[in-house]
Amino acid sequence: MRRTLSFLRIFVFGVLAISLVLIYLQGRVAIVHEEQYLLGTYFRIKAQSRSQDQAQQAVREAFTEAKRLAEEFSRTGTGSLGELNRRGCCAPVPLSDDVLTVLKAAQYYRTLSDGAFDPTIGKIVDLWGFTQEWDRTGMGRIPSPQELQPLVEEPREIMLDTAAKTGRLSSPNIEVDLGGIAKGYIVDRVVEILKKHELDSALVDAGGNIRVFTLHSRKVLWWEDRRPFRIAVQHPRDEQKILGILEIWGDRALATSGDYQRCFFADALGNIFPCRYADEPDKIRYHHIMDPKTGRPARGLISATIVAPTAMEADALSTAVFVLGEQRGLALIESLPDVEGILVTDDGRIVTSSGLRAANFPKELP
Ligand code: ADP
Ligand code: MG
Repeated sequence: MRRTLSFLRIFVFGVLAISLVLIYLQGRVAIVHEEQYLLGTYFRIKAQSRSQDQAQQAVREAFTEAKRLAEEFSRTGTGSLGELNRRGCCAPVPLSDDVLTVLKAAQYYRTLSDGAFDPTIGKIVDLWGFTQEWDRTGMGRIPSPQELQPLVEEPREIMLDTAAKTGRLSSPNIEVDLGGIAKGYIVDRVVEILKKHELDSALVDAGGNIRVFTLHSRKVLWWEDRRPFRIAVQHPRDEQKILGILEIWGDRALATSGDYQRCFFADALGNIFPCRYADEPDKIRYHHIMDPKTGRPARGLISATIVAPTAMEADALSTAVFVLGEQRGLALIESLPDVEGILVTDDGRIVTSSGLRAANFPKELP
């Protein structure tokens, strides 16, 4: 009897001790959350580590790199993309490794999407007023067909010399705009830095270009990090609502291209009104994702969300699929391994790719 009692005592004490150790280990989680305005959007990093110093150091380094890359990818900045746009019409321009890599990727997605993704669209986007001026005033303009047509018909090519690391443009009338892919690339580079610092998990978000990762191998407790990241997909017509929640496991990226954040409205008289989520009666919405074939805002979809292995892939594909529309966009998604999508059509239907059918998304705009 006494033996059983002392065994019980040892057992209870043991369980208590183990629980305390586990609670202590569980508590040693530092989360660093930082946000900065870069590339016309809020760049957010949330990093989790067992050490506050380690997480802070990693996030600091990540922002330094993100800032450097933002300058590299600015269309008019001092980086090599700015140089290509200023001088590329007339002579080969030396390109940084980052810009060369993304230009090559952009050419790849241009071919893959049958021209729907087009990095040479810069001057066309400008004509609609989606420039720094729009950032200030939120107002765009509708170009005349006479202004638009020459730019649409102009053959627009980027000639890259990978060995010499230079690039040229086929005409002085074009400008390279990597706005549909560069944020994704920067997110991937930032994730690389965070992984190098051996953080446990992190979320990086550049204006809806998101990548998350969890390093399962660094688990201390068996139940840790078994939860997925839960990421809400924005309702394209109501800022207060979401379409649903995506559960993201491991290391994945997602990006959304929509017509509701950089847009303006025009009435029949040509008066311009600021962008908002909800439609405006008797007014037409114009937004910043152009169909390269027409030089006008792409029609058919109002939002395209892509889930993919890297943020660059998700970014480029979300823009491409937005332009391609429901049928061709969905066909592109289904043709790619490890890529899924959620599309919203302009008549309010929500279309999900085969790998997401099980996900809890409605069939129509709620
Ligand atoms: P966001 O920048 O809001 O995340 P996207 O990734 O869809 O949205 O990128 C849109 C940007 O890409 C535009 O602001 C413009 O700079 C550029 N762009 C517009 N149309 C195209 C297109 N057809 N192909 C590639 N880039 C485009
Ligand atoms: Mg994009």
